[in-house]
Amino acid sequence: MRVSAAVLETPGEPFTLRDVELHKPRPDEVLVRVTAVGVCGTDLEFATFFGTPAVLGHEGAGVVEEVGDRVTTVAPGDHVAMTFNSCGGCRPCLSGSPAYCLSFDAVNFTGRRPDGSSAVSLDGTEINAHFLGQSSFASHVVAPARAVVPIGKETDLAVAGPFGCGFQTGAGGVLNVLRPAPGSSLAIFGAGAVGVAALLAGVLSGCSTIAVVDVNPARLDTARTLGATHLVTGGATGAEELRSIAPDGFDHAIDTTGRADVLRTAVETLAPLGTCGVIGVGPSEEMSFDWRSVLNGRTITGIIAGGAMPQVFLPELLKLHAAGRFPVDGLITRFPFERINEAAEAARRGTVGKAVLTFD
Ligand SMILES: [Zn+2]
Ligand SMILES: [Zn+2]
Repeated sequence: MRVSAAVLETPGEPFTLRDVELHKPRPDEVLVRVTAVGVCGTDLEFATFFGTPAVLGHEGAGVVEEVGDRVTTVAPGDHVAMTFNSCGGCRPCLSGSPAYCLSFDAVNFTGRRPDGSSAVSLDGTEINAHFLGQSSFASHVVAPARAVVPIGKETDLAVAGPFGCGFQTGAGGVLNVLRPAPGSSLAIFGAGAVGVAALLAGVLSGCSTIAVVDVNPARLDTARTLGATHLVTGGATGAEELRSIAPDGFDHAIDTTGRADVLRTAVETLAPLGTCGVIGVGPSEEMSFDWRSVLNGRTITGIIAGGAMPQVFLPELLKLHAAGRFPVDGLITRFPFERINEAAEAARRGTVGKAVLTFD
């Protein structure tokens, strides 16, 4: 079928709206009509180097239109959020940790199915798609059933989209991995959508001190309204301020920036035995620490997609959202799909909390 997609034709250049051919779902795949898709920092990062032409986008939500013969988890008409793909058969997948699938890169970041094929063709040639199980910068997507999570029809699909990546990543990092005790302290570096989700998870966990660090005053204002107890303007004085907030150090820290200098501060701000979750995809290739700063029992742990089993975690998080306890709606700025480049620019500049493209 002919569908509309935002095609990255050259790395680092704007997306181009093109009609592409979407092939039929295979037996273990699902055809989803996308109604909304969030713009995530990972899309923007990959857009600078990914093999082109390609369709990116990985915070899609929509309505199932068709399912392959072997799909039993969703049916046409179901509302779904899409999330990352995993193989389902390796040891981490079978242990309930698909975010650490041994084939994670192969099934999410090659632009192809494992057999080298693609569900998307442009001008008669298959192009890179299947990005994080979907490539949902498009009106329709063929996704593996494993990457599709059924959700209730009461959920606004424009809000549901970012649950598949950004909100799951931030909230899961805290709720599934750090698991802060009530009354403990948490420092969050970066107050974009992922950082705010981590903040809300800190509030849900009963953290008594939640310091949020960012260079953007508007983001800090948002963090204040959502439960941050301390706001720190990032930069040279940030570490000092954090020390004054928690003189013995923070029990937990979360880095959403992927920047080596910020990560170093995040680790140094920990109390002995404290844990820093590294969840951001950013510009730095390496991180470095004074060895004494990790010798006193501190832990640095990488976390992918909130360490979540999406089929279990997303419905739980959406229940909290429905109950008003995970209030992310105010973060979202909607853009018509055609204005994807404007939305990407706003996301890059941090002038919006979470840009979501809509198709209606
Ligand atoms: Zn993402
Ligand atoms: Zn696997």
